[in-house]
Amino acid sequence: MARLHRVTIVGLGLIGGSLGIAIRKKRLAREVVGYSRKAKTLAQAKRLGAMDAGTSDLRRAIADADLIVLATPVDLIAPMLARVAPHLKRGAVVTDVGSTKAEVVRFCERALPRGAAFVGGHPLAGSERRGIAAARPGLFDGAVCILTPGTRAGRSATAAVVRLWRGVGARVLTMTPAMHDRLLAQASHMPHALAFCLTAAAEPAALAIAPKSFLDATRVAASDAELWDDIFLSNRQAVLAAMRRFDRRWNELRSLLSRGDRQRLTTFLHHASRTRQRLHER
Ligand code: NAP
Repeated sequence: MARLHRVTIVGLGLIGGSLGIAIRKKRLAREVVGYSRKAKTLAQAKRLGAMDAGTSDLRRAIADADLIVLATPVDLIAPMLARVAPHLKRGAVVTDVGSTKAEVVRFCERALPRGAAFVGGHPLAGSERRGIAAARPGLFDGAVCILTPGTRAGRSATAAVVRLWRGVGARVLTMTPAMHDRLLAQASHMPHALAFCLTAAAEPAALAIAPKSFLDATRVAASDAELWDDIFLSNRQAVLAAMRRFDRRWNELRSLLSRGDRQRLTTFLHHASRTRQRLHER
């Protein structure tokens, strides 16, 4: 791929740090610059090889960058974009890694100056851990990365972001921000919501004997609460729609149980079981 001159990563946590490490390892840019408000994070990022140089001066961090990756918590992506927008060089491409897209893309497209482009991004990779200490090479190897270019993003801006993610080993899918949010609400946000609820609803004596099935089904309930309140709220409409979709199935199951309808209950379970088994075959 054509080598980028300078990539700047704003927010050196699990995702930003891992991306910096991967970009440097694969030599996708001549220079990776990192921005963090904390000297301690910058020192750790340097030690881990997540950047060539770092600064707590945002304006300096993005000076002369041709690609800027916003990797802060979701609710800070739009404010960060507003801060970097006046200082972008002409032709700069801005992308992000936020877990929800419609609100972010809408805001970022409006706030960008002429001559710059925004391409939303979301790598489906991560863990329950946070911060630069959790960053690791290979996090994106074989992962899917969804890109949601806005209406103003030209072909070359999108191509640059596609090359970046392919370069770090990800498989890239492109869709609209609304489609991203709808699918992620069902495939990621609902499982987290259900895991939080299952954990909250179990009485202590049940938790004390929780078998592996409970632990498997609730693993993600150990995720960071501040990351997840952010994700739920920034994708509120799509999560509520996914809850209504879930309600229909839940009520169906409840009704089959209350009627003691074994035949239909078996059909219901069989259908879900087959669907889940097919996921292994992918
Ligand atoms: P993280 O490890 O907590 O990193 C976030 C970074 O943002 C921290 O390094 C922090 O830097 C910086 N930050 C926090 N508040 C800030 C502020 N007020 N001003 C400036 N910088 C601030 O989080 P993450 O898991 O990498 O998530 C980052 C983004 O990736 C989020 O938008 C999330 O939705 C998305 N994402 C996460 C996952 C996942 O599994 N974790 C997966 C895909 C996408 P300092 O505190 O060091 O300054």
